[in-house]
Amino acid sequence: MARTGKRKKQPERLCLICRQLKERDGLLRIVRAKDGSVRLDPAYRLPGRGYYVCVERACLEPLLSGPQLARRLQLGGDSESLEELRCGLRERLEAAEARRAREAEEAARLARAPLEVQDARGRTVRRIVKPGKGTGSG
Ligand SMILES: [Zn+2]
Repeated sequence: MARTGKRKKQPERLCLICRQLKERDGLLRIVRAKDGSVRLDPAYRLPGRGYYVCVERACLEPLLSGPQLARRLQLGGDSESLEELRCGLRERLEAAEARRAREAEEAARLARAPLEVQDARGRTVRRIVKPGKGTGSG
């Protein structure tokens, strides 16, 4: 893992669909500009009315088809920017699911890995379970 140990406290936002308060970085921000156009705001800094939604299939799926998205964003109806937004949301969801699948695979791989322990000098040695005599190392 390349992540640093320190973790800044994140601002929390409410998901548009499940109404749960979550750390902002785990949510997608959708912004509605004054002209009524909508778009994704990955940097969380575009001006306009902001809406947040979880990067979860359960929360995004209802927005990807049908009139929910326009309604939730309080738009009159479908528009070009709405279609673009749907594409963006779908891409984000697929990317997040692919990443989670990779992480799950990695976790499963680590769980299956041979048991490794650190000796007194901090060297990693593999514990080998061997029947019979275990002498002659060095
Ligand atoms: Zn949600």
